[in-house]
Amino acid sequence: MISVPVITIDGPASSGKGTVASRVASLLGYHYLDSGALYRLVAFLALRKGMSSEAAGDLGELARTLTVRFELDRIFLEQEDVTLAIRDESVGKMASMISAIPQVRAGLLEKQRNFRKLPGLVCDGRDMGTVVFSDALLKVYLTARQEIRAQRRYKQLMEKEKGGSIENILADIRERDARDTMRAVAPLRQSQDAFFLDTSQLTIDEAVQEVLRRYEVVKPW
Ligand code: C5P
Repeated sequence: MISVPVITIDGPASSGKGTVASRVASLLGYHYLDSGALYRLVAFLALRKGMSSEAAGDLGELARTLTVRFELDRIFLEQEDVTLAIRDESVGKMASMISAIPQVRAGLLEKQRNFRKLPGLVCDGRDMGTVVFSDALLKVYLTARQEIRAQRRYKQLMEKEKGGSIENILADIRERDARDTMRAVAPLRQSQDAFFLDTSQLTIDEAVQEVLRRYEVVKPW
């Protein structure tokens, strides 16, 4: 029996992995999972409920019982469209903190694996290839230099007419990288069998083509 093919794209914040992963999924006609959105959803609910980022047991329960609906490019909690709300910087910060809690990661594990459906899945995050789908057909570690990621993030914020200085964004990226790579559980790291893709000098399209080229090489059919 052939298992459902999975492509994992892991990497640091603002590396462009989400855009690359969703385009690859749409070009292949595969399902797409933005695992960071799940951590953001738990963080969003925790902030709304006024929970502390240290309430490990309660946050784990929140993650385990999370009921989320992805519809095209919108994300719903019950009937509420939270697509934009979970992108807020405060939610991102809280997500980065609570994602270090083992109970939160365990609470989301099964939920993520349930996205593995035919004809295939493309997912992005920090531990997709190392933990959640360790048997993935193709694993990509997608990154870019911190200064380049800060510039891209700055451009995105300007387009949304949100402020922020390059210096603050760069400091935030450095802080987030340190937290994601240094945590004890499922830290961000390149899996030994992952294909390293530095997009510092690449456009989104070039990165997408590179992933597709690689997939052609590894897929057995
Ligand atoms: O990818 P995104 O920035 O939306 O993820 C928000 C936070 O969730 C990250 O800073 C990271 O700490 C956490 N995360 C994680 N594991 C994943 C995806 C995201 O720990 N697979």
